[in-house]
Amino acid sequence: MTTTKKGRSRQEDSQPIGLAILGATGSIGINTLDVVSRYPDKFRVVALTGYSQVERMTQLCKDHRPDYVVMVDEDAAELLSAAVTQMRLKTQMGLQIEILSGVSGLEKVAGLPQVSCVMAAIVGAAGLVPTLAAAKAGKRILLANKEALVMSGSIFMDAVRENNVTLLPIDSEHNAIFQCMLRQVHCNTDNSANDQLATNQTLPHNLAEMGISRILLTASGGPFKDTPLDEINNITPAQACAHPVWSMGKKISVDCATMMNKGLEVIEACWLFNTNAESIQVVIHPQSVIHSMVEYIDGSILAQLGNPDMRTPIAHALAWPERIDSGVQRLDIFDIALLEFEKPDLARFPCLKLAIEVSKTGGTAPAILNAANEVAVDAFLNERLAFVDIASVVERTLENMTYTEVDTLETVLRVDEQARAVTQECIKTMSIRVH
Ligand code: NAD
Ligand code: MG
Repeated sequence: MTTTKKGRSRQEDSQPIGLAILGATGSIGINTLDVVSRYPDKFRVVALTGYSQVERMTQLCKDHRPDYVVMVDEDAAELLSAAVTQMRLKTQMGLQIEILSGVSGLEKVAGLPQVSCVMAAIVGAAGLVPTLAAAKAGKRILLANKEALVMSGSIFMDAVRENNVTLLPIDSEHNAIFQCMLRQVHCNTDNSANDQLATNQTLPHNLAEMGISRILLTASGGPFKDTPLDEINNITPAQACAHPVWSMGKKISVDCATMMNKGLEVIEACWLFNTNAESIQVVIHPQSVIHSMVEYIDGSILAQLGNPDMRTPIAHALAWPERIDSGVQRLDIFDIALLEFEKPDLARFPCLKLAIEVSKTGGTAPAILNAANEVAVDAFLNERLAFVDIASVVERTLENMTYTEVDTLETVLRVDEQARAVTQECIKTMSIRVH
């Protein structure tokens, strides 16, 4: 029996990889389960988490038989417990599931010894604490929850380094950028691709030293790229959630419509690829066939293409550095009639402008922007705020708060809470414009 680094044997390595899927009931969670269920010999679902969607989680328990489930909401955990007991009696399935609740439940499953890989797919700031717990436990992290990185990039990346975490981006653009970087850019050591136990394989060196001049971060432009500005006032939540290309959760769909999502992705890319906003050019590419590009100093531009389906980046990260079939329909390049590229209009998309500014400011400013945006988007989805006022509310919150350094997680969580309160106050004075 050969033994690799950290004392694990090759025989142990051939055991299925134990997975915890944080945010399993959401769009990324369901897509992850779709890929994973194609490979029962490679992956084992150890833990699933959700907030309160009992019916959906009951079905997931039936289909994937996890050992642990967390419903953050306590009442939902009780209802799930009853539903699983009933299912066990009805179907005589030998379901043995430990059901937990609360944030402590999320932290627990992120650190379970039988879990080696954590899909971080909770939406919003709520993903920060459990994703950080996964990093501290040294798990391989597949990161969809961009908000964790936006709020506390320095703390999160320190935890990744200190615990030799293999960090793989799920956001399609960041996954594309990762794929367009040569292996040695994201390998701190010269370990072979087969040695998955190498430390910090996925962390980038200084991009300039590696011959990279720019990152070209693509964006579809969302549903309102060409909508006359006077019509944007009356946009409804249903219109904002109808993304022309991607099918996603509601919050990220609204973020795509305002292009705040692209702003958050600029900040995310700065942390993931050890760079700054000056080295990132946002490119509107309405066809969403190219998922992002990396420009090298010799004039080469490498791009990653594919059909817009999140199962591709998910499968890439699950199998990295190998490749597995994701179930995604192949892109027929003969069907691509046209590839268009435009510079974003920052006057049309003030949220993108604010996020780029904030990424340059640093400190607690990105956490404030993120909190204000989450509260504003929620108010918009609940028809308490007009679409155009999302940017105004975020801007006013940023103006009304002072920024500090991000020193501890407690600082970030306190700032997040304060920013939410300030944002609610701003919304009270603006909600009159909805009707
Ligand atoms: P979603 O709304 O479909 O699902 C969110 C998940 O988080 C659900 O399982 C929900 O139960 C859980 N959740 C919500 N609030 C919670 C809380 N307070 N505590 C614990 N769990 C909670 O969202 P999504 O579209 O799957 O997005 C998830 C993350 O992935 C987001 O950070 C998003 O930015 C990122 N992402 C999504 C896509 C996509 O295509 N959907 C693409 C790139 C990045
Ligand atoms: Mg994205």
